[in-house]
Amino acid sequence: MKRIIGIVLALIIALSGVLPVFAASEHNPETCEDVPVIVVRGMDFGGLYTDVGTENQAAAIRADVGFIIANVFKGLFGTALTLSLDPTINAVAAIASNIFEYIKMNPDGTSKHKVGAIRYPLAAENYDALCQGIDSEYGMARTMIEEIGDHAYYFNYDWRIDPFVVADEINEMVETALRETGHDKVNIACCSMGGVMTLAYLTEYGYEKVNRVCFMSSTFCGAQVASDLLAGQLEIAPDTLYNIAYDATADIPVVGTLMKALKFIGAFRLVSALAGMITDKYLVSVSDQVLYPVFGGTLTFWALVQPEDRQAAIDFILKGQPEKHPELYTKIQALWAMIDGRNALLDEMLENGVQIAVVAHYDTPLIPVFEGASMNGDGILETYQMSGYATVAPYGKTLGDDYFAENPEYLSPDRVVDLSTAILPEYTYIIKGAPHVGGTYGTDYADFFRWLMTYDGEEFYAGINPDYPRFMVSGDDLSLNAF
Ligand SMILES: [Zn+2]
Repeated sequence: MKRIIGIVLALIIALSGVLPVFAASEHNPETCEDVPVIVVRGMDFGGLYTDVGTENQAAAIRADVGFIIANVFKGLFGTALTLSLDPTINAVAAIASNIFEYIKMNPDGTSKHKVGAIRYPLAAENYDALCQGIDSEYGMARTMIEEIGDHAYYFNYDWRIDPFVVADEINEMVETALRETGHDKVNIACCSMGGVMTLAYLTEYGYEKVNRVCFMSSTFCGAQVASDLLAGQLEIAPDTLYNIAYDATADIPVVGTLMKALKFIGAFRLVSALAGMITDKYLVSVSDQVLYPVFGGTLTFWALVQPEDRQAAIDFILKGQPEKHPELYTKIQALWAMIDGRNALLDEMLENGVQIAVVAHYDTPLIPVFEGASMNGDGILETYQMSGYATVAPYGKTLGDDYFAENPEYLSPDRVVDLSTAILPEYTYIIKGAPHVGGTYGTDYADFFRWLMTYDGEEFYAGINPDYPRFMVSGDDLSLNAF
């Protein structure tokens, strides 16, 4: 009897140690309806650091003030003495080269310096910056933390390196999320540059562990601005200059009128002509000093080059001799093969039950320094590529009253965007007036994002939720309304 009591006591003691653990982890992935979400953020241009994670951590893009002052004087005196712009342009190029030194790439497309991004390997709720996030991806992470707790993850990366290397890191995060939550699939929200990175992941690792992908203002179809940059198609056009000047000052009627007057007297044409003369004369020397060493080996940008601009990019950055850059060119070709296989991969994913949404915005002018800047966009990227190649009128224009849309359902009510030509029209949302990525915490847009990432229906086409029709209009406060 004593022995039985002893065993029972021992059992009770043993269980009392185990029971609270059971009580604390009620989570059962079999019954849990929350799919883990990974927010793959966009390019954080200033978010790279030398000695990252140590006490010496410093921004990789940084100015050496002494060097800048010395070169400003050198350039200005040189120009004053020689009455030529050459010394000034050379000084500007030297300063830019110096500021960007730590983000330069090796000829094989790897980082020249030991530089890294801040990582968030644990569930997002472990990081204050994410729990208190406001804008864009930070706001999205916070929305997800509040909605699904420890099922939310946030992925950051060095935006310069080969998307296939970033894909390995995304795979690690997918594996981590699945291991920690016990689920067998994740939902991925890929924002901006995260689009091409996620495409690399899907190409390399497949979609077996993916339940849903939402491409938010993303680069899954590349970007014209990167394409033009690498193809040397830089230009400051009068119209694009006017668009951005007018847009920036539209809230101040007097200045808006002034901009119109300046346009009338040809001021934008004059600035454009001056800039054009400078670009024509100095484009090659500046690209040799800055563009090639800083961005020529940035494989991410090569992945964004539009198929029709590939040869121009080879001609401009690689001087028409890709065989002189064998390691880099092999990697570039792998990325272009990935782009060429994208449509088939997405179709295959849909056929196999992966849910996809594409979200793109328009009605904000682009930065007026490249040929494609007259396109409609969200201030950063072009709606054409973000929407998966919808037909989009130039900024400030419509497709015209006699434009014929193959499927009238796919034409925006203001006749600016026609999804008929897009690769996934059925699954694409177009939002007028929303900024790049959007997602600000606490807004209608955040609610839309929450729904995109957590809705658990069988069908997932755009407009299945009457609150979020295919075409929407965003207010400045990211309030969303049906068009
Ligand atoms: Zn769960």
